[in-house]
Amino acid sequence: MKFRRLREKMVSTQIEARGIRDRRVLEAMRKVPRHLFVGEALEYQAYGDFPLPIGEGQTISQPYIVAEMTQALELTKDDRVLEIGTGSGYQTAILAELAFRVYTIERVRQLLITARKLLDHLRYHNVIARCSDGTLGWPDESPFDAIIVTAGAPEVPEKLVQQLTIGGRMVIPVGDRWSQTLLQIRRHEDGFHETDLGGCRFVKLIGEHGWREE
Ligand code: SAH
Repeated sequence: MKFRRLREKMVSTQIEARGIRDRRVLEAMRKVPRHLFVGEALEYQAYGDFPLPIGEGQTISQPYIVAEMTQALELTKDDRVLEIGTGSGYQTAILAELAFRVYTIERVRQLLITARKLLDHLRYHNVIARCSDGTLGWPDESPFDAIIVTAGAPEVPEKLVQQLTIGGRMVIPVGDRWSQTLLQIRRHEDGFHETDLGGCRFVKLIGEHGWREE
């Protein structure tokens, strides 16, 4: 109950107040128990206006960023979505509330195992997860109506945009290691259209079409 109140406050003060209007996105953010995705030690901070560490040097994104990226995907309930960077699984759960099926890829096995367990516990049976390099996408299941990348890329991975349907949307942070621009890319019959959604800061997308491993 206390977490429900914190969640309600998070949505009204951080998300609605900053202009997110998509009813379905707001509803999903009111529903998914974010505190379960950060581990007990941080559960009281889960609804704060900031990202949090989730182990393995990775972070769960700030609630507003999750809402903004999700809204920009323009999901319908029939959509098949590809997510790169499962992390805690929180963004995955939001997507699973809004789409038909979510394919999620994480490169750090331990994070994937923890996220998978929690998503199963919460009965998100429309999530299919795997451990691999997401910069290559998921060719066997492509094309996707929407693709979301939750780690910062040096450039838009060519393999990924090729896995979008015509009319499909991709949201991805692109830039250097320290700051990126959030891009929405829409695939048309005759090419791609990019919209700049503003500045952001993500952990690195590491892989063949991302940053090199350190
Ligand atoms: N959406 C996540 C955010 C996780 S942070 C959440 O809500 O918690 C970004 C994640 O991307 C990290 O877990 C990192 O390990 C992962 N990642 C980085 N490069 C990747 C790649 N090439 N393929 C798959 N996952 C990747």
